[in-house]
Amino acid sequence: MTWTATSRYGLDVAPDGLALVHDFLNTASADWPRKPDLLADRALATEWIGSALATWASQWGAPVLDEVDLDTLSERDLAVLRRARAGLLESLCSRDFGTGGSAGGGDGDALAGLANLEVAVEAGFGLDGIVHFKPKGRGWRMLLGPVALEMRRAQDAGVWARLKTCKNERCRGAFYDRSRNNSGVWHDVRTCGNVANLRASRERRRQAAEQAVGRQARTR
Ligand SMILES: [Zn+2]
Repeated sequence: MTWTATSRYGLDVAPDGLALVHDFLNTASADWPRKPDLLADRALATEWIGSALATWASQWGAPVLDEVDLDTLSERDLAVLRRARAGLLESLCSRDFGTGGSAGGGDGDALAGLANLEVAVEAGFGLDGIVHFKPKGRGWRMLLGPVALEMRRAQDAGVWARLKTCKNERCRGAFYDRSRNNSGVWHDVRTCGNVANLRASRERRRQAAEQAVGRQARTR
């Protein structure tokens, strides 16, 4: 079982259950390389949610999720999920870049929308003492319950700050920062990082040229 949304971009997934949140963010369409939005229509969404929840449940040795009824997934469910994803993206941008909604391509409304959602998961006890979780509810709740649980587990474990979106506004791909001091800002330094470095050095050259022209004008 794999995390299909994240692996299609060639990225390492976040550890443990946080991979579910990571994969949810990467269902979005990005330019690196160009891929479709996996929550754009029912066929794509059904396939991704089924696979993601099965992969998520397998961590407790419960690979079969009989209760998950994806046939009832509606267009409205997809709209709620896309909006929740936008809200999550905005919260990460606001945390890491301090720029709030606009940097996430939204206006902050998605973040407020996310804050209004209420979800649940079902917990049970295994004979081995391991607690397992199941999705609860239908439609968008099936996915966002587990997503909320995994966000909280990551926050408790102190690794939430390592799940980030790329600083490149055109990219905004989600990545898990494994650097020692959690200082990474690009999903891939070879692509987005290089583009930014090139732009910065071009800007420095432009400024240097302008200053040189200014000096010439003054000495004349
Ligand atoms: Zn990027």
